[in-house]
Amino acid sequence: MPNITDNLADIHQQIENSTKNIGRHQTDITLLAVSKGQPAMAIRQAYEAGQRHFGENYLQEALEKQHQLSDLQDIQWHFIGPIQSNKTRKIAENFDWVHSVDRKKIAERLSAYRPEEYPPLNVCLQVNIDREESKSGIAIDDVKSLALDIASLPKLKLRGLMAIPQGRPTVYEQQQPFATLKRLLVELQSCSPKLATLDTLSMGMSGDMEAAIIEGSTILRIGTAIFGPRQYPKNT
Ligand SMILES: *Cc1c(COP(=O)(O)O)cnc(C)c1O
Repeated sequence: MPNITDNLADIHQQIENSTKNIGRHQTDITLLAVSKGQPAMAIRQAYEAGQRHFGENYLQEALEKQHQLSDLQDIQWHFIGPIQSNKTRKIAENFDWVHSVDRKKIAERLSAYRPEEYPPLNVCLQVNIDREESKSGIAIDDVKSLALDIASLPKLKLRGLMAIPQGRPTVYEQQQPFATLKRLLVELQSCSPKLATLDTLSMGMSGDMEAAIIEGSTILRIGTAIFGPRQYPKNT
């Protein structure tokens, strides 16, 4: 079994070192523990070590674990996987954040299904930053118009952008797509008062965390470096 408590401490240390090197503050970065494929017990261990933000990719798997962990009151659940339209109600009802919005129809449904008494659902637009045919995410050229559409939906709070770049061998090369995402965010912030409050760059995983911090990541999505290898395959 990997030692989740030690791994979390190591990652916090890395975040501290990397931010200090470039004059950023450690507290400007949220560590999102990506717990897909991990049992509820692993989440509980991370929680006991102080971790509060957890990311899941598959709705059914997430709902089962949320149920098993319902005694842990102050967890923030983030949905980070591809979203099918027929899953939008359960996602809107059971998560605090959604990072993977890439279509207007999905955004509209999430807003419509978000319960009235809940705060607005925090969302990020997923951008297909490397223009990959097979990847989800909106094309760079379409980001602005979708962002403006989402900003006017009543039960969503657009927070920023998310991307999953292709793997690259060096930190310098890894920085390039993250720099592009950062530039896109800055463009959005200045193009309309409705987008001026965007504050989130969801970027950086176990293999490219350093590069993401250098380019301004505010949410790191880290799975295997915290929990070790995933224990079961996906089941949507
Ligand atoms: C699985 C996943 C992660 C975590 O990946 P690791 O390499 O295990 O850190 C982050 N973001 C998304 C969208 C994922 O699907």
